[in-house]
Amino acid sequence: MIEFQKRGLPHAHFLLILAPEDKLRSTDNYDSIVSAEIPNPVTHPLAYETVSKMMMHGPCGVINPAAPCMKDGVCQKHYPKSFHENTQKDNNGYPTYRRRNNGCFVEISNGFRLDNRWVVPHNVDLVTKHNAHINVEICSSVLSIKYLYKYVYKGHDRATITLYHENIQRILDHQAEPIDEIKLYLDARYVSASESIWRIFHYRMHGRSPKVQRLAVHLPNHQYITFQDGEDLQDVIDRANSRKTTLTAWFQENMDNDAARMYTYGEFPNYYTWDMKQHMWRPRKTATIMIGRIYMVQPSEGERYYLCILLTHVRGATSFENLKTIDGYTCGSFKEACIRLSLLQDDDEWNACLLEASAIQSGKQLRHLFVSILLFCQPVNPEILWNDHKVALCEDICYQNHVLIQFQNDNIPDIIEREALYQLEDILLLNGKLLKNFPNMPIPPTKTSNINYYNEDWTN
Ligand SMILES: [Zn+2]
Repeated sequence: MIEFQKRGLPHAHFLLILAPEDKLRSTDNYDSIVSAEIPNPVTHPLAYETVSKMMMHGPCGVINPAAPCMKDGVCQKHYPKSFHENTQKDNNGYPTYRRRNNGCFVEISNGFRLDNRWVVPHNVDLVTKHNAHINVEICSSVLSIKYLYKYVYKGHDRATITLYHENIQRILDHQAEPIDEIKLYLDARYVSASESIWRIFHYRMHGRSPKVQRLAVHLPNHQYITFQDGEDLQDVIDRANSRKTTLTAWFQENMDNDAARMYTYGEFPNYYTWDMKQHMWRPRKTATIMIGRIYMVQPSEGERYYLCILLTHVRGATSFENLKTIDGYTCGSFKEACIRLSLLQDDDEWNACLLEASAIQSGKQLRHLFVSILLFCQPVNPEILWNDHKVALCEDICYQNHVLIQFQNDNIPDIIEREALYQLEDILLLNGKLLKNFPNMPIPPTKTSNINYYNEDWTN
């Protein structure tokens, strides 16, 4: 994503998601990618030159109270950081990088010496190669990734400007007629010189790789169709019948082509490409990586949800009927087919559902999902589901209260968990249920008043 600021050059934000086998798991892995120290000028002269010129924060604070990062006398980016002998993992998403107190410093123009506490985290190879400001950080938890996405997709810069005309001034002076001051303001796009050049040359504003093919999930004859006002109904129906969705075209391809039947719906885009014009799948000729993403379906949607479960397990289905035919017996519903395939015997599906949703949804959305699962899916052990996912289910409550909680994986401060349970109960109440209706779900003490987060000492 390209971001323009009011002045200076454009910024590019990259979010790299590593394959499971490449994930950075240990702090040694972190250190091999990110450094927050001044490079050795003898062994890494080029990196030293770039880091000392471009990767030192500020200076700000007492030395330079007028620095742009300063607000109410404090650096908004928390520089200078403190020294640390080793890199440490942090459960709130960002690690604390190694910054050794080894006597290294960079002397800036006014004679002030900046040491390792002032270094912006970077990758030594990248700064060496590009001789530019490149900040590299590790977002180790899904919590930070979600907020990063919001940052990546933030909108354009805007500015408020005043239109001024001498006639207006004359009116103002003489107070001849009432002035609508709001109309005199215009909320307008701010386009900097570098942004205008970027757009004139049609450079890309954002991109994503590998490509993602979204896969429709709809019940028989429930797909979307579009038509113009006043169009002939028969034409609309004929067109809808001939225009296949990614799902009905998958059935068709399985019917026509034996080789297609080895894959589930979700795996299909790895081997076939979607022809947008012809509305059909074609065998992939080149080996490009493509990720198939089935649209998210809530368990409260009933049959559509069970259809979705079948689609993630069944290979080579040739029709909706065929999808719910198990060992020659055609089930009456997709749910029955899931039961016959033993897909609903334990809470695996609900576990997978919460896990998938927690990567993209906020805590509040997840609590609604959790309630749907409680109400509509009869989980066997709701309290285990709660315990396994409560970090994600409480995430926004932690975030909204501006507290960097250093909780250990499953260990959330009681006060946060209690608040999340109150909110769960509120949603359940709308459906005429209570937490105590579900076996072993934790029940918070009776709510006496609103919690004042700032008065209780639970930050550690
Ligand atoms: Zn600062």
